[in-house]
Amino acid sequence: MVNVKMNNDYLLKNLRNVPDFPIPGIQFKDVSTLYKNPKCLKIMVNELYDLYKDKGITKVVGIESRGFVVGAALAVKLGAGFVMCRKPGKLPAETRKESYMKEYGKDTIEIHSDAIDEKDVVLLHDDLLATGGSMKAAYNLVRQFNPKKIYINFIIELTIEGLNGRAVFDKDVEMTTLLKI
Ligand code: AMP
Repeated sequence: MVNVKMNNDYLLKNLRNVPDFPIPGIQFKDVSTLYKNPKCLKIMVNELYDLYKDKGITKVVGIESRGFVVGAALAVKLGAGFVMCRKPGKLPAETRKESYMKEYGKDTIEIHSDAIDEKDVVLLHDDLLATGGSMKAAYNLVRQFNPKKIYINFIIELTIEGLNGRAVFDKDVEMTTLLKI
């Protein structure tokens, strides 16, 4: 039997913390140390597969760029498609856009206009939940396509320093996170 607690302890042990990146005061959780480790990568994909294998997911939407890695691997395992949610100007065909407020100024994300349809069951995925701003924008964007259902997942949920990213989502939004820090 898979011991999720042991696996998650292993992930936490391998997650690199980089103090004062990209600006002083930020404790940056560097998931590249999880992505480069074959055992960590397998644990993350398998745990997510167990959470979502019975949900009928047809599209995994990954948020640029750290949401692409596990998101795409999970899509393969689920037998779903993979959609990129990207920074402005990166996607070549017609897009839909959503802007949101960051700590300093505004940011925008885009998705191809034909990426999702009403028959889809969508899993939105990113590496980390901090304030929730970027995922809320992605959620609003995907909602415009009126899919059957939208699930949300993060590998890491930051709860330190009074962060409560979950609070920006309605209570009925189904969200999972593998690690709470
Ligand atoms: P937010 O929109 O505030 O929830 O920020 C989430 C996005 O910013 C994710 O795509 C993360 O990759 C990145 N991010 C924000 N804060 C951190 C942090 N302390 N460590 C690593 N990544 C972070």
